[in-house]
Amino acid sequence: MSDVEKTRSASPAPLEWEYAPAPEARDIVSLQERYGLFIGGEQVEPRTGEWYSTISPATEEHLAEIATAGADDVDIAVQSARDAFENGWSQLPGSERAKHIFRIARILLERSREFAVAESLNGGKPIRESRDVDVPISAAHFFYYAGWADKLEYAFPNRRPRPLGVAGQIIPWNFPLLMLAWKIAPALACGNTIVLKPSHTTPLTALLFTDVCRQAGLPPGVVNIVTGDGHTGAALVRHPGIDKIAFTGSTEVGKGIQRAIAGTGKRLTLELGGKAANIVFDDAALDQAIEGIVNGIFFNQGEVCCAGSRLLVQESVSEQVIAKLKRRMGTLRVGDPLDKNTDIGAINSREQLDRITELVESGREEGAEIFQPECRLPERGFWFAPTVFTNVAQSYRIAQEEIFGPVLSVLTFRTPEEAVEKANNTAYGLSAGVWTEKGSRFLWMAERLRAGVVWGNTFNRFDPASPFGGYKESGFGREGGRHGLDAYLRFE
Ligand code: NAD
Repeated sequence: MSDVEKTRSASPAPLEWEYAPAPEARDIVSLQERYGLFIGGEQVEPRTGEWYSTISPATEEHLAEIATAGADDVDIAVQSARDAFENGWSQLPGSERAKHIFRIARILLERSREFAVAESLNGGKPIRESRDVDVPISAAHFFYYAGWADKLEYAFPNRRPRPLGVAGQIIPWNFPLLMLAWKIAPALACGNTIVLKPSHTTPLTALLFTDVCRQAGLPPGVVNIVTGDGHTGAALVRHPGIDKIAFTGSTEVGKGIQRAIAGTGKRLTLELGGKAANIVFDDAALDQAIEGIVNGIFFNQGEVCCAGSRLLVQESVSEQVIAKLKRRMGTLRVGDPLDKNTDIGAINSREQLDRITELVESGREEGAEIFQPECRLPERGFWFAPTVFTNVAQSYRIAQEEIFGPVLSVLTFRTPEEAVEKANNTAYGLSAGVWTEKGSRFLWMAERLRAGVVWGNTFNRFDPASPFGGYKESGFGREGGRHGLDAYLRFE
């Protein structure tokens, strides 16, 4: 017996492997009691005189009072953005705009812990993700587009690129800071000014970002932030002084926006929902694929537009994959978003939790088989256990509708042709994943999948240099990369 074996046999096996709590300190974020609207470089009281409470979805505790912007407030914000556009920002040399954007990127990194804590506090996502994904990739977007600001003529040779004017930008709650960065960085690089509306439930990092704009010396009015719900968003969409709407959110609201601006000449990009297929072939490295499946559906509680919410697994390995997946799900830690050990945090709102619950119920009723590992969910706040459905028919709602929660539907296939057919059998077309050892098979699949992004042997990977966007009901236009500039430019 070796020394190691002797030691092993001498020490009794622990009954339970538990992690000690590892909470991130919350006091790095100092919140104001109330946040006004950010217009013309200052916080101002809303004309509506209305405020609402933003909460932590993990505890339901009140965090701060937030202004509700009405149509008059939106009007003042658009005017401020117009003045800033005409009185300087659009005429500034690209190299000067770049300096501001670089400064924003650097300050975001300097204050990254603060932003990560605020994001997890207000949105419910695990600190591990806000710290390692949301904040660094947001900063990376600003760095990336800062680099383009003085090179637009090279990005579009012989086409004389010009800014559009005032961009109205509306974003959802699942990646509040990252979606802000995706919207603001290219718009500024191209010389536009901005009125941005964050989601009703997650305004805090956008409001902290206003302080970054101040620190970076951004001229007043170049970025304006108006808070509120869908009514505020609708007022922004309708405003005649807006030249472009950039929207990320649900397909339903996106369609309404498209109808509302039809015939106005306003430019539009829509980043909408998804129901991505994560496709595992029998030749794939299965343990690696399991990690990709878990990341695909449980990252950010599955509240991800490009989540791999349909697992398509080749029949010959389906039993093996499902068994491995269930075992792996048993190790996921659900709980306090500010604990560094947490894998799955809180669902963003009661409304979203109700929606997930309703769709999961429909899955049971339609005849799918449900599995949830044993896990203790906190009593307060909004929580949902990681869930996998097997025996799913393509017609079930859980195979067709976007659940936007930690819920995976498993389907099987026999041939690559069948995998393509099933993967494309959706109204959406945002992303897909393919797991195979064969490069030729990956390329064959990528050519046929109707999805804006196809990941090979990985999932949910984001890079500022890489364009992102949808087909069909997932929207149109691309964000990221050189393509992302196109959405904020006109050509003379
Ligand atoms: P949502 O459509 O309800 O809201 C998105 C934003 O639009 C919010 O700021 C909201 O206040 C605003 N809004 C609501 N009604 C409006 C109206 N009539 N006019 C103008 N603005 C209005 O979506 P959500 O629940 O916040 O976000 C989840 C959705 O976002 C999911 O469907 C998800 O797939 C999608 N999403 C897509 C991407 C992408 O890049 N394709 C990224 C993240 C999220």
